[in-house]
Amino acid sequence: MEPIVNPEVKYKQIFINNEWHDSVSGKAFPVLNPCTGEKICDVQEGDKADVDKAVAVARAAFKRGSPWRTMDASRRGQLLNKLAELIERDLQYISSLETLDNGKPFLEAVEDILVCIKVLRYYAGWADKIHGKTIPVDGQYFTYTRHEPVGVCGQIIPWNYPLLMLVWKVGPALACGNTIVLKPAEQTPLTALYCASLVKEAGFPPGVVNIVPGYGPTAGAAITEHMNVDKVAFTGSTEVGHLIMQAAGKSNLKRVSLEMGGKSPLIIFADADLDDAAMWAHAAIMNNHGQNCCAGSRTFVEEAIYDAFVEKAKYMAENRIVGDPYDAVTQQGPQIDEEQLNKIMGYIESAKKEGAKLQSGGERLGSKGYFVKPTVFSDVTDDMKIAKEEIFGPVQSIIKFKDASEVIERANRTTYGLAAGVITKDINKALMMAHSLEAGSVWVNCYDIVTPQTPFGGFKMSGHGRELGEYALHEYTEIKTVTIKVPQKNS
Ligand code: ADP
Repeated sequence: MEPIVNPEVKYKQIFINNEWHDSVSGKAFPVLNPCTGEKICDVQEGDKADVDKAVAVARAAFKRGSPWRTMDASRRGQLLNKLAELIERDLQYISSLETLDNGKPFLEAVEDILVCIKVLRYYAGWADKIHGKTIPVDGQYFTYTRHEPVGVCGQIIPWNYPLLMLVWKVGPALACGNTIVLKPAEQTPLTALYCASLVKEAGFPPGVVNIVPGYGPTAGAAITEHMNVDKVAFTGSTEVGHLIMQAAGKSNLKRVSLEMGGKSPLIIFADADLDDAAMWAHAAIMNNHGQNCCAGSRTFVEEAIYDAFVEKAKYMAENRIVGDPYDAVTQQGPQIDEEQLNKIMGYIESAKKEGAKLQSGGERLGSKGYFVKPTVFSDVTDDMKIAKEEIFGPVQSIIKFKDASEVIERANRTTYGLAAGVITKDINKALMMAHSLEAGSVWVNCYDIVTPQTPFGGFKMSGHGRELGEYALHEYTEIKTVTIKVPQKNS
């Protein structure tokens, strides 16, 4: 598929009640092109007043007797399928817009949008299969459970996979019958707003999905503090995750699900096929420019193959093609913004100072936009900043280890627990590692395999709750127990 280079931006307003609104404050904010740092357009800036408007209509759409509440569950599934079909119809445009806004290579944007379509279809299938149970209780009673929607769900998403993060959240929420006020990241609101137009076209009733672009401390905080929002789902940094739980605690104890950062280990044993291992490790950290919460950002390599592995990693990084994301050969575009660029460069400098050995990259590429050369450090030790903190950039840290029990301890010595990987031909070792690593996802002889069907989320400070798969439905339903006195029960 060919991209539409620099596509026209069609929607720049706030989407409330299936209508487009200017911000109450009259303010707008600039959206920048990460390839150039130049402005793409201004988008209406949502704030507390706009969130209040959106929550009010989401509440009205959730009212008992409303079109949404009285709709057949199977019809909710049809609407989700329709939304998937419309995204598929506009795949070329949406992928081009994602590349413009986020800077990811066009063909990767296409991959993201294809996954969005799959996720929506997956949850469309669930809509009429969300069952309660009947329970054989003690006494003369008949008891059943209902899985009811939670209500108005606030959803706050990041910029690294803009439309994909939206779909991960709206898919299960809508399948379960909730209504939504979603805030896209301020860096990347454009595909979310275009998708809003498709929500309307698909035929969702007004107020079911509302999209309020704006900044975190204003629009985002207004959602998390709102007394009339029943649940908040967040993907982003652990710092902001703390704020979200605090806001929920201080307001109405809304339900919270969080998916946050990681410092994920990928552990390569000496029996691995070296080329295969180097390929997975490279992809694990470099994909999406390292802007991936489950990036394999600690590459642990067993000492017997360490030097040979470093050579391969260096070769792969040196040959990675960085440049114009609309060019089909490009593997890496720019980082999202200047703040991230500076943060990554700071980590690179700290690694040099702390004695890690720079094997490739280590500097910015060009002076326009936010490009970083794919960077590889060897001789990284556990105490270095780059081995402890999330970089969110194309920086591979290769760390040596001696044996399985030692590397398990070291891999788990982090407050994060999102993902981990193991590469070995030894099935016993693979299973022992998989069951010992403290992470929500463990990949064996692969990495970053996330599918609509598989739950995804973090142990420890990487998360609360799970997205995707059947498990995500638990985050979007309340269980109600109904117990009825009966004259006589029979087994
Ligand atoms: P990153 O550092 O990767 O940009 P953030 O955690 O800052 O990640 O941002 C993820 C999302 O959280 C964005 O939509 C952002 O606007 C939002 N956000 C940031 N700060 C807050 C906050 N105080 N309250 C609610 N949402 C916030």
